Amino acid sequence: MTTLEGRHALITGAGRGIGAAIAERLADDGATVTVVGRSIATLKETAARLSSRVRANALVCDVTQPSEIAGVFDAARDAFGPISILVNNAGQAESASFLETTPDLWRRMLDVNLTGTFTCAQAALPDMLAAGGGRIVNVASTAGLRGYPYVAGYAAAKHGVVGLTRSLALEVAKRGITVNAVCPGYTDTDLVRESIARIVAKTGRTEAEALAALEKTNPQGRLVTPAEVADVVAWLCSDAASSITGQSIAVAGGEVM
Ligand code: NAD
Repeated sequence: MTTLEGRHALITGAGRGIGAAIAERLADDGATVTVVGRSIATLKETAARLSSRVRANALVCDVTQPSEIAGVFDAARDAFGPISILVNNAGQAESASFLETTPDLWRRMLDVNLTGTFTCAQAALPDMLAAGGGRIVNVASTAGLRGYPYVAGYAAAKHGVVGLTRSLALEVAKRGITVNAVCPGYTDTDLVRESIARIVAKTGRTEAEALAALEKTNPQGRLVTPAEVADVVAWLCSDAASSITGQSIAVAGGEVM
């Protein structure tokens, strides 16, 4: 058991999928939670589920818009005080062959997955420095640790998140702040269901065949669950993980080692 009572956690992209599971898990551990993302309806549903246990708030923000981020972090602070835990989870994965990767797709992948992480970390870090401690957990991907065909933009962005994680971890190592990444393999969320639909549309495979191809990448022969990713994030946020920093932990059934 870990306890995060008295900590204010802000989680991006927390309306659904891995982000919603992380919000639930940090609330289980007693954190006050601000969930941030693009769709107020799903964010409010997440916050409502949490608010029977902890204080929880939903705020709309597109992490690719620095001007929105500044305002939302201020609003989060006004509601619940300084941010002590930041989970950069908002992300998107679009696929295309390398030659079909337009400059626009490339920029979109870097903007949301990498620059969004950078901008949110800059917005939260002053609170942690002032408090003399904190936690930043970036949700990267196994695509931040190895290559995959047809996702050059996404993989480049997630490799960038791993590099950002390592550098920032060293910069704040003596300030009581840890900075880590979790790197899920294919995880059972809408994002993966959308990937399966694209594989079906492009290759003519059945949905079951497309799912089996993704499951085969995991030595355990299955998709990772959002709760499994959330458990690792919660541990990284706990006092038990105080000496763990700059790490990129694969949550992928042994796919990367
Ligand atoms: P998801 O699509 O179910 O959820 C992503 C969330 O991020 C959504 O709520 C979405 O609205 C939000 N989001 C997207 N763009 C945003 C933006 N510009 N501003 C604010 N919010 C934004 O996907 P998921 O599978 O839960 O993915 C969560 C994270 O995990 C992503 O960073 C993704 O790259 C990473 N990841 C997922 C998998 C997987 O297989 N599902 C594997 C490895 C890494």
